[in-house]
Amino acid sequence: MARVAFIGLGNMGGGMAANLAKKGHDVRAFDLSADALDRARTAGCQAVSGAREAVEGAEAIVTMLPAGSHVESVYADAVFDVATPGVLLIDCSTIDVATAKRVAEAAQSKGLAAVDAPVSGGIGAASAGTLTFMVGGSDEAFARAQPFLADMGKAVIHAGGNGAGQAAKICNNMILGATMVATCEAFNLAERLGLDAQAFYDIASVSSGQSWSMTTYCPVPGVGPDTPADHDYKGGFAAALMLKDLRLAMAAAKDAGADTPMGAQAAALYEQMAADGQGGLDFSAVIRSLQRQE
Ligand code: NAD
Repeated sequence: MARVAFIGLGNMGGGMAANLAKKGHDVRAFDLSADALDRARTAGCQAVSGAREAVEGAEAIVTMLPAGSHVESVYADAVFDVATPGVLLIDCSTIDVATAKRVAEAAQSKGLAAVDAPVSGGIGAASAGTLTFMVGGSDEAFARAQPFLADMGKAVIHAGGNGAGQAAKICNNMILGATMVATCEAFNLAERLGLDAQAFYDIASVSSGQSWSMTTYCPVPGVGPDTPADHDYKGGFAAALMLKDLRLAMAAAKDAGADTPMGAQAAALYEQMAADGQGGLDFSAVIRSLQRQE
């Protein structure tokens, strides 16, 4: 078992750090929030008073932070001049592809190894240890990261070189955003055409309109499995986080010169949800915005 630094113990990082500790790792955990530190302590981590203290002597350094600017500043302030040469940096945050590549290059220039390893799966999967990790980095860095990630997830997939994990994450979530909007539109239209929602679900879920958004995460209350729609769209994956991922996808598409009209439409709808003060609701609540439009 290894000594692991874990920085960023929020909704996702808290459960992930707890799972590493459960697997027997010596987890030195740090977060700016005292409450998060208390929870990590209770979960079997050693809570420390600063990121530099967490990083000292660690064999692997995991970060789970809000955005690229946080990763860049934690690496610059507490990792690059503290980490032992050869140490592996595993950034699990969802950040922009350009920053992911930049921090990996900076790490390598300091003699450190780095992977981007963003996740699919929400807070429940983080605490249950059933996340999917999509990993960007060299074959060697991936092989070193794999056992740590396997202790926190059910699938660990090598996407390619540095930045490829983030690329996979935003492309996946662009599909998710667009298919959720399409599913909501279809239920809305079905209702206007006099179709019963359950009857439409029974048909579409075994026809070519089927998708994860339809059969695993149905946006209509009382139809399909239990989802946030059955709880007034509370919990689940917040529309604000979907918007964050769609903005990253749109920025990357612009940089790469890729045409993404469906992704852009989905982004615009989630921008509107956030502007309407609905960003805290689950992202499937976009169906309500469509229902309001006469
Ligand atoms: P969160 O806001 O709950 O947690 C982030 C934590 O980072 C906070 O506890 C904050 O105090 C801490 N932090 C910020 N700056 C810090 C610093 N300089 N030093 C130490 N700690 C610092 O966010 P989250 O929901 O846990 O998400 C984390 C990442 O995972 C994000 O990039 C998000 O996009 C991604 N993600 C989230 C979900 C989800 O369902 N919540 C799903 C997939 C991916």
